[in-house]
Amino acid sequence: MNLSNLSKILAKEPKYRYAQVNKAVWQDFIGSWDEVSNLPKALRETLALECPLEITAQIFKGKGHAGALKALITLEDERAIETVLIRQKEHRNTVCVSSQIGCPLNCAFCATGQFGFERNLTAEEIVEQVVFWERYLKKETSKNPNAVVEKVDNIVFMGMGEPFLNYAEFIKAVKFLNNPETLNIGARRLSVSTSGVVEGIKRLSGEKLQVNLAISLHAANDNLRRDLMPIAKKYALRELLRAVDNYIEKTGRRVMFEYLMIKNINDTDKDAADLAALMNKPLYMVNLIPYNPTGQFKASSPERIEKFKAVLEKNGVPATVRLSFGGDILAACGQLRGKKKK
Ligand code: SAH
Ligand code: SF4
Repeated sequence: MNLSNLSKILAKEPKYRYAQVNKAVWQDFIGSWDEVSNLPKALRETLALECPLEITAQIFKGKGHAGALKALITLEDERAIETVLIRQKEHRNTVCVSSQIGCPLNCAFCATGQFGFERNLTAEEIVEQVVFWERYLKKETSKNPNAVVEKVDNIVFMGMGEPFLNYAEFIKAVKFLNNPETLNIGARRLSVSTSGVVEGIKRLSGEKLQVNLAISLHAANDNLRRDLMPIAKKYALRELLRAVDNYIEKTGRRVMFEYLMIKNINDTDKDAADLAALMNKPLYMVNLIPYNPTGQFKASSPERIEKFKAVLEKNGVPATVRLSFGGDILAACGQLRGKKKK
């Protein structure tokens, strides 16, 4: 898919063509210009040549968890990115999008970081991942004439890459997804996760957008955090949490802190008490994430996670445990690599 010539082509057309094209591409999720019968044939032919709509992708379906699907999308420059669709009960669909090809931040527990960094994605490439799943859902759910046609309900920027190191394209994508004339997905349905890039948190605080913010914390002290996440050498916890407090003051919104549960590394009762001491503030909440194996560490047991959660709650910190989907297709958090199957 490449719509970079779209405005040039539509500039020669009557104004209302924009609305027709926007509806067809971003709301009806057409896969071919032939489907837009209200456009003149000559225009459809030009668009087919100059603005290809096809998205080249390979889909992987999980065996154990029917709920998660991973797609490997091949971009114009032949590089590949991964995006995940999580189909939950009550027809809720969440899409996890990548913001970069690889990631330069190299966290010790993350497969994407180990893969290295290739380049930033453009806003169009970020939006394309959502469009891919919208088309997929439309096709799958309209097979049964009695079923409701499903849509993407939530989007999480938790795939490959650090969104705040690609801020300009990230925020352009958010605004495009949110725009009533294009995808019209409410800002409250969009969530961004950052490893703690303080400039990005500051910039987001100044946007008039109700997107959800999540912070990858993973450790309650600077020493351990620096061992796990090299970005912690640049921003100490104090500075990071000051930026979060500022964000809360400006926006009045809750912030979710993500905390990976890694066996014998950060999962003792003492770690939980230290974390509770940091997190005991209004509008802070903790999301415990079962570690998905990527080679280096072991996962905490479900019992350990429950005990850890109980310590947080006893100390007045709201905590949830993230359900993990897609482990068997390497589609779970931190396992996205962008490798093509041979
Ligand atoms: N770069 C951003 C967003 C992408 S990562 C960030 O780091 O926040 C999305 C989430 O997956 C983060 O919370 C990240 O810490 C988590 N994650 C990374 N590796 C993981 C693993 N092996 N198992 C489970 N979650 C992991
Ligand atoms: Fe990058 Fe996030 Fe993975 Fe760290 S956890 S390497 S910041 S994608």
